[in-house]
Amino acid sequence: MRIPIIMTPGPTSVSENVRLKRAEKTTNPDLDINFYDFYKETTEKIGEFLKTKNQVRILSGEGILGLEAACASLTEKDDRVLVIENGIFGEGFADFVKMYGGNPFFFRGNRKCKISTEELGRFLDIDSNFKYATIVHCDTPSGMLNDIGDICGLLKSKGIMTVVDSVSAMGGEELKVDEWNIDIVIGASQKCISAPPGLTIVSISEDAFNAMKNRKTPIAAFYCNLLAWEDYYEKKWFPYTPPISDILALREAIENILKDKDMIVRHDKIASATRAAVVLGGLDIYIEDGFSNTVTVIKVPHGMNDEKILNYMKENYNVMIAGAFGYLKGKVLRIGHMGENARIDKVSYTLFALQRTLEHYGFEFKHDMTKVFLEKF
Ligand SMILES: *Cc1c(COP(=O)(O)O)cnc(C)c1O
Repeated sequence: MRIPIIMTPGPTSVSENVRLKRAEKTTNPDLDINFYDFYKETTEKIGEFLKTKNQVRILSGEGILGLEAACASLTEKDDRVLVIENGIFGEGFADFVKMYGGNPFFFRGNRKCKISTEELGRFLDIDSNFKYATIVHCDTPSGMLNDIGDICGLLKSKGIMTVVDSVSAMGGEELKVDEWNIDIVIGASQKCISAPPGLTIVSISEDAFNAMKNRKTPIAAFYCNLLAWEDYYEKKWFPYTPPISDILALREAIENILKDKDMIVRHDKIASATRAAVVLGGLDIYIEDGFSNTVTVIKVPHGMNDEKILNYMKENYNVMIAGAFGYLKGKVLRIGHMGENARIDKVSYTLFALQRTLEHYGFEFKHDMTKVFLEKF
């Protein structure tokens, strides 16, 4: 199989030390006491980069597992849950809330702009009777970054717990879980963390654990039950066998991140230079504000076909970028510049390949995107 350069908004490329780590010989993770220490230390290192003293757990399943587990563990029948949405993942939380018997109420934002904290504040002045609220940090299909710091602070001041999907932001954007009062934040191995897909990371506040303990009815799930993970270390008992090889690789990827002091700044520089290249080149960014530092979402030029563009880029330049789905299907092209892909060489080559491809289909650029990118970087 010919492996393309994957410049998609996840999964991202995995560095060699992480790949090799995954191949190492392993112990029995259920029975070997040393693995409990390794797992705990790994969660503490994750806590360090999430800036939290909250408990962190690594679960065996892709990011979606973390989203479902948060909703499964907090939701009881008829609970009122505020679903703050300005994109596909934001809206999707309502399905999990309903699945576990809750009652989702939407606060819908403009899908081209980040959620307005002022408007949300006015909404909450009228009704703030919600057990918890959900919001997406970076809604990846549109590349929308929400100000979760302000928003979670506001929600918490109204006594509402917060669940944040930071799957495509964690590691690439500022994230201060304690300062921002986030009760549950969810990440995944395959985005900015640049480990193979298969793990989700969840940080859980004391308030969130208390809410789970004070439920009137038991959590209607096993795999999605976060409470089952509360005392694993004291009990030396995991609810199921942890995927040890994946966790070894994740630990290596986390060590890479902790050593990389400029990671957030580099994402910011890469993203601004990418947006400048795209706009000066004559293309349009899909959203109007709230530009994420991990993915740039570009409108498909008028009269062109996204699939043809993606295939041509892959066939001729061996670069894979992404289209989108849902209401954005066929309308946008997405370049992921997150984690190991937030690198000057990879992004400049991707812009070169995209420019050549669009020129092939008749688009006339106003400026050379690679040149602009390199000048701005
Ligand atoms: C990638 C991603 C997830 C996980 O979804 P998959 O499509 O299964 O990879 C969840 N939330 C957001 C915002 C994501 O970008």
